[in-house]
Amino acid sequence: MLNVRKKISLAPLTTFHIGGKADYFVETSGVLELAEAFEYAEAHHLPVRVLGGGSNVIFPDAGFRGLIIRILDGGIRISGEKVSCGAGMVLFDVVQKVAAAGLAGIEHLAGIPGSFGGAIRGNAGAFGTEIGDVITAVKVFIQATGMIKEYQQKDCAFAYRTSVFKDNPDMIILSAEMRLAEGDRAGLEKTIAETVAKRESKHPQDVKCAGSFFINPVVRDEKLRQEFEKDTGMKIRGETLPAGWLIDHVGLRGKKIGGAMISDKHPNYLVNTGTATAENVMMLSSLVKTRVRDELGVKLRAEVQFVGF
Ligand SMILES: Cc1cc2nc3c(=O)[nH]c(=O)nc-3n(C[C@H](O)[C@H](O)[C@H](O)COP(=O)(O)OP(=O)(O)OC[C@H]3O[C@@H](n4cnc5c(N)ncnc54)[C@H](O)[C@@H]3O)c2cc1C
Repeated sequence: MLNVRKKISLAPLTTFHIGGKADYFVETSGVLELAEAFEYAEAHHLPVRVLGGGSNVIFPDAGFRGLIIRILDGGIRISGEKVSCGAGMVLFDVVQKVAAAGLAGIEHLAGIPGSFGGAIRGNAGAFGTEIGDVITAVKVFIQATGMIKEYQQKDCAFAYRTSVFKDNPDMIILSAEMRLAEGDRAGLEKTIAETVAKRESKHPQDVKCAGSFFINPVVRDEKLRQEFEKDTGMKIRGETLPAGWLIDHVGLRGKKIGGAMISDKHPNYLVNTGTATAENVMMLSSLVKTRVRDELGVKLRAEVQFVGF
């Protein structure tokens, strides 16, 4: 039986720790409960949004006037080099479980917060690996029709921080299959530990945030690209420049609005210093976009999902 709860605080369910209450909230395990939740929403004329690990979302201070469905379906099945996982599994658990089974391919994703489903939707990636590289098929629930459909890898449109699922919010990821490669268990566990250590040295720790706030933009301005290389001593790989460097370049490192602050350590992290409201974050994000556009001619797009604004 579906357990729909009312007036549930959303802030603790997100890594930003920002946002008011959801009018209605339900946790679902399995497609039947998910379908029931959508039926409930339809019967009560409620807008719906799904939530995974809450590591890439921000909710309004006034909360969400509708139903939030938190996807919990877990479960992992490993058969040779083929792995099936429920969307609600914690990504880090998946990374550790497949490494323990001696399977290689996602060890560099260690330490990315959130759920397996959330990672697929945004094609989460780090250190040269993206989850879309190893996905072979994704099972989705189509909200509009109540049907289940399976997408093969070639139809998922995985690209930098995006997928067909991100472009179509009525597709709810239920589970997915990965094809991994045989690897050495001890070596994989070492890589996981090194990856986590690398993240800890590069990224601010124990901060309330949603990771990189903006997508690294494509920058074709040769002068700016050369400035980046001169400034950082690094060679540019590909067409994008790090959003954090652009934010730093316009002098916004450490900038604060209310309780929201641009991290001193990683300028593409907008952090909640403890008292930030969603409005503070919106204002800071809009200041960043304006300054980077006006001073450098580059348009930044948020990676973080604004839900219910
Ligand atoms: C400290 C920190 C570091 C981070 N580092 C990285 C990094 O290195 N690389 C990287 O790529 N990301 C990084 N992120 C961002 C974040 O972890 C990823 O985007 C993550 O994959 C989001 O998953 P989630 O389950 O938390 O999604 P949520 O935040 O719960 O949701 C994000 C969006 O996905 C949708 N969604 C969630 N689950 C589903 C589903 N099953 N079906 C359909 N839609 C769904 C939601 O509706 C929402 O629109 C970082 C975040 C933090 C806080």
